[in-house]
Amino acid sequence: MIAVRTRLAPSPTGTLHLGNARTFLINWLGARQAGGAVVLRIEDIDRARCRREYVERCLDDLRWLGLTWDEGPIFQSARLASYEQVFARLVEAGAIYPCVCTRKEIAAAASAPHADDEGPSYPGTCRDRFATADDATRAAGRRPAWRFRVAPGEVPFDDLVLGRVALDPSRTGGDFVVRSFDGTFAYQLAVVVDDAAMGITEVVRGDDLVPSTPRQILLHHALGSTPPRFAHVPLVVDAEGRRLSKRHGDADLGLMRAAGIDAGSVLARLARSCGIDADARVAVEELISRFEWSRLPRSRVVLD
Ligand code: GLU
Repeated sequence: MIAVRTRLAPSPTGTLHLGNARTFLINWLGARQAGGAVVLRIEDIDRARCRREYVERCLDDLRWLGLTWDEGPIFQSARLASYEQVFARLVEAGAIYPCVCTRKEIAAAASAPHADDEGPSYPGTCRDRFATADDATRAAGRRPAWRFRVAPGEVPFDDLVLGRVALDPSRTGGDFVVRSFDGTFAYQLAVVVDDAAMGITEVVRGDDLVPSTPRQILLHHALGSTPPRFAHVPLVVDAEGRRLSKRHGDADLGLMRAAGIDAGSVLARLARSCGIDADARVAVEELISRFEWSRLPRSRVVLD
């Protein structure tokens, strides 16, 4: 049996909220229960949106909750040479092609997309249009982005929370961007390269990333790596049904910490939302043996 390895993968684009903490907690409990390792990976390739102060605050929040890690923090911004190598392999294999379509769409690729960001499928305008990146640059007067060729068909996977999921990525998004015109590697590429290089066996994350999973599986296949197992956790919403957002500073963990709220009571509340019986205050270690994937609610969780 392969030892479980999981990752906490925050993007330092804002302060962490209760929903982030809940996903990290589930991830951590699953790993610790299996005697596995936790890698902390800071997803900071989207330089325009990431800030160093958010990295520090995130590490403080994790320590406050007692969510320990065994390796890292590993910064994606320090791994560009690895992405470059994989990118060259994909070019060589003809798995990706240069594309000069809308800048806006392409600029959005660096950040992890969310379910409601999924626009219409890319129509394939630049597929087989240019032999090389230079041809594309000459034709468009600017540098191209790069897209991965998505063949039609379902890409099924067995999700630890959602069960069998089968989506056809050629219908939800189509050929997706792996590198933008300014050279920035896209979230999809960086995540797959890292999950493979770090030997990640379980990916636990919010269910807003479900549409990304078939794309990542296709990239793993193109690179000859085995995709990890996935567990997509339903999102946390506020009393109005709005998804908690880092950008809006919702249910900010740092503010709770600064206000003197006890981490044990936050953990207890999160634990109950995961189907674990918990007293008013708990230490995170007490939850390891009590956690059960099967008791995790399958629908959205309200925490405000
Ligand atoms: N860094 C992403 C986020 O904070 C998570 C990506 C992933 O788990 O694959 O939304």
